Amino acid sequence: MIEVKRIYLDHAATTPADPQVVEAMQPYFSRRYGNPSSLHTLGAEAQEGLQKSREQVAQMLGTEPQCIVFTGSGTESDNLAIKGLAWHKKRGHVITSGIEHPAVLETCRHLEKNGFSVTYLPVDSQGLVNPEHVAQAIREDTILVSVMHANNEIGTIQPVKEIAAISHEHQVPVHTDAVQSVGKVPFTVDDLGVDLLSLSAHKIYGPKGVGALYVREGLKLQPLLHGGGHEKGLRSSTENVPGIVGLGTACELAGQRRDRDISHMRRLRDKLIAGALEIPRAYLNGHLQKRLPNNAHLRFTAIEGESLLLSLDEKGVAASTGSACSSKKLQASHVLLAMGLTEVEAHGSLRLTLGRGTTEEEIDYVLDILPPIVEKLRKMSPLWEA
Ligand code: PLP
Repeated sequence: MIEVKRIYLDHAATTPADPQVVEAMQPYFSRRYGNPSSLHTLGAEAQEGLQKSREQVAQMLGTEPQCIVFTGSGTESDNLAIKGLAWHKKRGHVITSGIEHPAVLETCRHLEKNGFSVTYLPVDSQGLVNPEHVAQAIREDTILVSVMHANNEIGTIQPVKEIAAISHEHQVPVHTDAVQSVGKVPFTVDDLGVDLLSLSAHKIYGPKGVGALYVREGLKLQPLLHGGGHEKGLRSSTENVPGIVGLGTACELAGQRRDRDISHMRRLRDKLIAGALEIPRAYLNGHLQKRLPNNAHLRFTAIEGESLLLSLDEKGVAASTGSACSSKKLQASHVLLAMGLTEVEAHGSLRLTLGRGTTEEEIDYVLDILPPIVEKLRKMSPLWEA
């Protein structure tokens, strides 16, 4: 059997757990299995694991451990931030963007069904929110502005700092979904000026099914889960100790390696974009500079992203047409449509996202196989006029 190379260029969907993360988690499955709420030594050991992780997450975000709430995912962090604040306020108006992850968009739609009103801000052709639009959308009853830090599909980095400054002039708190930017963009919560920030372990070489929410001191939220009062009453559930320890370790590693990771990924990403754009009628989606260092989101005239993805997979390359959640539906991406692309253009898109372990050899390989695949698919496409 011919061995097919496996090249993983879908790090925006998820990342492999770092061996150091796995090693740090291991004892908490077997030897240190206590319940952190128990008063005996095993409980105290588990509690120490939680505390260390809280410090690691806080340090990476430039904040204090008491501001970190552990959750079960990035999705849950987004839900807790938005619904938690909305339920606390009981009524009001929320501002978000039209290109958020479904974890934010669907939460806002749910709020609309429950008596809240929501403004979905437009983006420009490169996927950027204009802070002026935030200023125009703020009303007397606005309770929250939620704009993502970096987009999961096109990698565009939003002007969150400017958006937060404007919102705070009106005493409106700001949430940002930083699930994709952690470890790829240097920032602290104070740099961004946000009051709530979501992150997820599995996007930063940690385990799946664990996340965290930063909550600025003094900001009141209603919990989504009621029970034993864990996480200062904000998230009842016996804590996922191994997962949380993995998240903390992943955050510490992300902090230590961030500068190296950024320059490594950016160099290879630029090479990938430059090489791919040599293909006739190939385009880059999103902003050239204001984008995540690992994101290459490309569009090829007269090609279906799904066919391209399958052809790449046959050659051992794992890519995506958009977010992992939407790529199983054959719906055009709401992000690309919001940027003004047509349905056909949106369907011709491919997302390649690099990681810490991506090599130059892998990028060279992709650049070797991509042009003939595109050419072959175009020959079969009724849309292609050479
Ligand atoms: N927000 C963004 C921007 C994401 O990319 C993702 C995952 O794809 C999520 C939220 C959801 O995170 P999780 O998979 O941990 O629920």
